[in-house]
Amino acid sequence: MNFENIKIPVLALRGLNIFPEMTISLDVQRDISVNAVNTAMKNEQVIFITAQKDAEVEKPEYSDLYSLGVVAIIKQILKLPDNNLRVLVKGIRLAQLEYVDSYTPYITGSIVPVCLDGIKKKTKATEATVRSILSLFDEYFNYTRHINSEVHSIISSSGEDFERFTDLVAANLDISVEKRQDLLETLSVSKRLKMLLKILTEENEILALKNSINEQVKESIDKNQREYYLREQLKVIHEELNGDSFNENEIDEYLKKLDSIAVSDEVYRKISKEIKRLQLMPDNSHEATVVRTYLDTVFDLPWNDETPEMTNPEKCKKILDKEHYGLQKVKERILEYLAVRELAPDKNGMILCLIGPPGVGKTSVVSSVASAMGRKFARLSLGGVRDEADIRGHRKTYIGSMPGRIINAVKNAGSSNAVILLDEIDKMASDFRGDPASALLEVLDKEQNHSFRDHYLEIPFDLSKVMFITTANTASSIPPALYDRLEIIELSSYTYLEKFNIAKKHLLPKQLKEHNVKSSVIRVTDSAIKEIIEHYTLEAGVRNLERELASVIRKAVYEIRTTKVDKITVGIKEVERFLGVRKFDEKNENDLSEPGVVNGLAYTSYGGTLLNIEATVLEGSGKVELTGQLGDIMKESARAAICYIRSKATKLSVDNSFYKDKDIHIHVPEGATPKDGPSAGITMATALVSALSGKAVRQDVAMTGEITIRGRVLPIGGLKEKALAAHRHKIYNIIIPYDNLKDITNIPEEIKDDFNFIPVKNMDEVIKHALI
Ligand code: ADP
Repeated sequence: MNFENIKIPVLALRGLNIFPEMTISLDVQRDISVNAVNTAMKNEQVIFITAQKDAEVEKPEYSDLYSLGVVAIIKQILKLPDNNLRVLVKGIRLAQLEYVDSYTPYITGSIVPVCLDGIKKKTKATEATVRSILSLFDEYFNYTRHINSEVHSIISSSGEDFERFTDLVAANLDISVEKRQDLLETLSVSKRLKMLLKILTEENEILALKNSINEQVKESIDKNQREYYLREQLKVIHEELNGDSFNENEIDEYLKKLDSIAVSDEVYRKISKEIKRLQLMPDNSHEATVVRTYLDTVFDLPWNDETPEMTNPEKCKKILDKEHYGLQKVKERILEYLAVRELAPDKNGMILCLIGPPGVGKTSVVSSVASAMGRKFARLSLGGVRDEADIRGHRKTYIGSMPGRIINAVKNAGSSNAVILLDEIDKMASDFRGDPASALLEVLDKEQNHSFRDHYLEIPFDLSKVMFITTANTASSIPPALYDRLEIIELSSYTYLEKFNIAKKHLLPKQLKEHNVKSSVIRVTDSAIKEIIEHYTLEAGVRNLERELASVIRKAVYEIRTTKVDKITVGIKEVERFLGVRKFDEKNENDLSEPGVVNGLAYTSYGGTLLNIEATVLEGSGKVELTGQLGDIMKESARAAICYIRSKATKLSVDNSFYKDKDIHIHVPEGATPKDGPSAGITMATALVSALSGKAVRQDVAMTGEITIRGRVLPIGGLKEKALAAHRHKIYNIIIPYDNLKDITNIPEEIKDDFNFIPVKNMDEVIKHALI
C-alpha cells in the first residue's frame, strides 16, 4: 500500500483516538462519518482516523482535527438502526493529515505517513525503563482490571519491539484524549517511554489514593451491611442446624439495652461479648439459657437509676415521729448520723447498726429513714449465712448459679442509691466455705465498694451510693472485724405502757387499714388492748402483739360478714372469744414455793427473759449433772456455786458431805434455747442451797449476778432488759450485784418506781433475801 499523499476518507472521532496496533469497535452516527466508512468499504477498507480537538463540534473542519492520526483498516461493519454503524477497526500506522480536500459527503483528506524515531541501540537504561513500565503497568492492570488479560500478556511479551510496545501500552491507558494525543504525537520512542513512565506513575498514585478512599468509605458503610449480611447468614445456618428460628430481635433488644445504660468500657465490653456469645448459640441450648439469665440479671440492675435525695433533717424527723412512737434517743442518734454523713459523706465510713430484741421496730425505723430521705428500700437477711458465696454469688460456671444477696437486694431496690438493710448480722457464721463477714466488710467499705465484684456478674458494680444500715439482736455475737466499723444504736424492750401506746396509735390503725375497715366499724377498746398485751403476749417487742391484733380484727371482720351486725366493739370478752383462753396468766406460772426452784433473769437475743432454774438433790455418789443446753460458762458458774456451798456448808445448814453422797442435778427449762453467760451464777447457787437445805425460795424475787468460788457477787450486763422482763412477769423484787446500782438510771422512769432493787455484795446476802 502506498500512502504518499493519498486521498483517503477521514473519520473524525469525538473524545477518543486510536493507536497503531489497536483494534477497537466504534459506533458511527454522523452522516459524514457513515459516508466515510461506506466509501472506505468500497475501496480497500482503509480509512484515516483522527480525533477532534473539541468533541462538541458537529461538522469539523481541518483546524478542528488533530492532524496526526492513524491509518486503519475496517475489519467489520454492522448496520445498526437509524442508519448507524458499528465498525471494528484496527490501527495500521501513523499518518499526518496534510489538508482536507472536501467536507461533503464526507471528509476527504490527503495524508502522509509518519515514522517513529526508533531506538537504534538498546541501552540498559532503556531496558530498565521498559521493565519499570511493565511493572507499573502490572500494577495499573491490577487496579483497573478493565484491560483484558490477553492484551496484558501481549504487552508483557512485546518488550523488545519498543514502537509497538509504546503503542500498546498507550492504547490501553484510560487517560484523557489530550494526553493520548500527546503520546501519539511524540515521535521519539525514548521520549515516549519516559512519558509513559511518568503517566503510569501518576495514574497509579491516583488509583491507589482512590482505592484507599473507596476502601475507607466502603468500610464504614459496609460495617453495618456486613453485620446485617452475616446475621442473615447466621439465621439461615441456625435454621438449617436446629430447625428453629433464630431470635434476632432478642439480640437487638439486648444491644439496645446495652446502649441505654451508662457503664464503664470494661463492663460494656464484657456484656457485648456475652451478647455475641448468645448470638452464636443454638436457641434452645442450656448455655443460651444461662447467658440469657445472666444478661437479664445484668440489665435488671439499676446502673443509672438514682432517686433524688432529700436530706432535710426537719422533714426526716417529722416522718420518723409520725411513723414511730417513742424511741426518742434512737431517732436523735439516727438524725445526727444522717447530718454528719451529709457534711462529710466520704469521711464517715461508719455503718449504722441498730441493736435490740425482735419486734422493737428496727426494720421499720430503717424503712422510715429511707422514705424520709426519698430513697428506695430493700432488706436482706443475713441470718444463717455461712458461705461467702451468699454475699458474693456463685461463679456462672456453677449450675443454677445466681448473684449474691447484695446484688439481689440492689436489684430488688431498683435504684443505685437505695437504703439497704442488712438484717441480723449477728446471726452470720463462718465455716470452711469462706468467711461471709470479710466479704461483707468489702461491701461496707467506702474505699472498695465503688467497684464491688460479684462472682456471678464478673463485672464491677458501684455500691458507693447505697446506704447500708445493719441490725442485730445482740452485740456480742457480731463478728469483731465488722463490729469495729459499726456505729451502734441500741433499742431496748418496750415497757407495758409503750406497748399500749404503740398498739393504740400505730399497730391498730395500721391493721385496720390493711383489712380495709374503719375504726367506727371495729372499735377495739383500751382494756382489750391491755388484755392482749398482758395475757396473750410475753415478748420484748410488739411483733406478737401486732399479730394478735391482726387476728382479732380478722375474726371481727369475719363476724360482721357472717352475722347481721354492722359494727363490733372489741372488749375483754371479745378478746377471749377471738383469741381463746389467756396464754399467759399469773395463776398458770410455775409454783415456785417448793425448795430448789429460783427465778433467774437472763439476757438473750430475744431480750431479757425470766429463767426458772431448778436444782434437785438425790442420794448418789457426788455426781453433778447440768441440763437445758447450757454453755461452758454457765457450767463453770455451777461448779463455782458448788464450791462456794462446800466452803460454807455448816453456815448454810447444808450437810457437809453432800458432795460425796448426793447427786446434784441442775436444770434450766426452755431447753430449746441455748443459754450461756455468767449472770445465772447466784441463781444456781440459791437453787442448790434451797434444794440441799430444804428451805423454799421467795417466788416474788428474781435475781441476777455472777458468783465467785468465795461467794462474791460480780456485776452483770443487760440490767435494763432483765428488769423489763421481770416487770412483764410482775416480779418486782430484784436482787442485783451492788456494782450494778448505777445502771438503775437506765431503767424507764414509768416502771422504775415499781421495783425494789436489792443490791448485794456477796452470796450470804442473796441467801438472806431469797430464802423463806
Ligand atoms: P424488728 O426489726 O426490730 O424485729 P420490726 O421493725 O419488724 O421489728 O417491728 C415489728 C412491728 O412493730 C412493725 O410493724 C413496726 O412498725 C412495729 N413497731 C415497732 N416499734 C414501733 C414503734 N415504736 N412505733 C410504731 N410501730 C412500731
